[in-house]
Amino acid sequence: MSKKIICLFDVDGTLTEPRQPINPQIEKFLLETVKKEFDIAIVGGSDLSKIQEQLDGKNLFEKYKYVFAENGLIAFKDGKALPSQSIQDMLGEDNLQDFLNFVLRYISELKLPFKRGTFVEFRTGMMNISPVGRNCSKKEREQFYEYDNEHHIREKFIQALKKEFPDLALAYSIGGQISFDVFPIGWDKTYCLRHIQGYDEIHFFGDKTVEGGNDHEIYESNFTIGHRVTCPKDTVNQLKILMTLVKENREKEQLSVSMHCA
Ligand SMILES: [Mg+2]
Repeated sequence: MSKKIICLFDVDGTLTEPRQPINPQIEKFLLETVKKEFDIAIVGGSDLSKIQEQLDGKNLFEKYKYVFAENGLIAFKDGKALPSQSIQDMLGEDNLQDFLNFVLRYISELKLPFKRGTFVEFRTGMMNISPVGRNCSKKEREQFYEYDNEHHIREKFIQALKKEFPDLALAYSIGGQISFDVFPIGWDKTYCLRHIQGYDEIHFFGDKTVEGGNDHEIYESNFTIGHRVTCPKDTVNQLKILMTLVKENREKEQLSVSMHCA
């Protein structure tokens, strides 16, 4: 019996350039080549509408067996919604407001080369916090990203939050170029794995796999086989390698079966 395999992809930096739509050739390869061999699924940290924008959202649920937005807090299997939880239920309104008030105060005291709008985006299972504001142009995102690499704005912000709220069971992860995510511990991308059943192997592909990155936990999880990629092209290359390996193994199995029969 050949193994049942599902390939699960991060979105930003893995299937698409950050916040950009998927390259049609990459999508074609996924849907016409990879999907013949394996089931395919996606897990993004963003909300569903952003993922739909990036992955040519019409028929999104037909293209992918599972669609996980917000790390799997918003989950669909074959287009049907699966149960979800919210961050306000988990934290309670009082804690949540203390936290948000601190965040807004901290941002108000931060001097950067520039600031734009939408500093906090409240999602189902997480908050996305951007010191520079999410309404940046593509160029401004890149400028902030460079500035942050030098001055560690996001890292310092996270340290301040950890110090202020040591008792809230929150995890922090830096993803993308301009923001970081805050969510209850365990609500990282591994959250989506509870929904995936019936496979011998789950292959996860992600670009932010080092500690502190938003793919780290699921990449390291015992339930996945992790693939670290550098860009969408690298994802394609690694898929080609995986398909070759799986094909070779199948041929070996068939050979040993036929030798047993002889
Ligand atoms: Mg990514």
